[in-house]
Amino acid sequence: MKIIKNPNQLQKICIDLLKKKKTIGLVPTMGALHNGHISLIKKSVSQNDITVVSVYVNPIQFGPNEDYNKYPRPIEQDIKICKDNKVDFLFLPTNEILYGKNFSTYVFNDSLSKIMCGVTRPNHFQGVTTVVSKLFNIVMPDRAYFGLKDYQQYVIIKQMVSDLNFKTKIIGCPIVREKTGLAMSSRNKYLSTNEALNASIISKVLIQAKKEFTAHKPIISIIKDIKNNLSKITDCTVEYIEIREAETLKEAKENTKNIVIAVAVRINKVRLIDNIVCKK
Ligand code: AMP
Repeated sequence: MKIIKNPNQLQKICIDLLKKKKTIGLVPTMGALHNGHISLIKKSVSQNDITVVSVYVNPIQFGPNEDYNKYPRPIEQDIKICKDNKVDFLFLPTNEILYGKNFSTYVFNDSLSKIMCGVTRPNHFQGVTTVVSKLFNIVMPDRAYFGLKDYQQYVIIKQMVSDLNFKTKIIGCPIVREKTGLAMSSRNKYLSTNEALNASIISKVLIQAKKEFTAHKPIISIIKDIKNNLSKITDCTVEYIEIREAETLKEAKENTKNIVIAVAVRINKVRLIDNIVCKK
């Protein structure tokens, strides 16, 4: 595995690989890699000749009072995980090299960025779409792998690819969970053992909601039940509960067949998101 810090160098390598008709898979991450990330890496390795993983804690997707500085950065462990999983290139850019002095061009989805997580994190998705566009221009991947854990991000990236004519195919990968049901996340490191146990109830609440949806319970009642069930979790405050059309993230109606039920909560100070996709 080769570690590359310079985007121009990586771009040259990728141009050469594409000339040789090699297929390239890209897995963008912020590091602190866990089994969720590893599932994306494994899928890329199985579907492409070459896999590029980026580990970059992207400053422009964090709000002023968010955890940019304390975000976990176990880089030696991440390097080992990538090597062990047959990654070909690990891209580790610095802020200075990725966002030069006069950086002032952003990619922004004008509608999907403003709902759900976008309400409390107003610049977050602009940061995501901007850095992912840069990665797509550097690596020119045939496929890029995104977890359904960040469901809104996945839909926004798919929309961006369609709107801006990127050639990359977006592959959505299922949520990997702890045995308790808690969706794996680098931020779970911030939870105490007790908080993690409390947080694991979120997934059970979502499973219950899915059952209600398939049993044709009205959406408004499902939301009420989720709210009630989440309120029973110790130290849990709800940021949002949303039921939306799975493809477009438009608000679901009673006759919508494919939905995503998405929640954002805080367990004490730790913000967690989770979701479940349902069909009827
Ligand atoms: P992050 O490092 O948190 O930015 O995540 C990088 C990629 O891994 C994103 O596409 C995430 O959706 C995905 N990911 C993170 N956690 C999980 C998980 N538990 N299951 C599946 N994918 C995940």
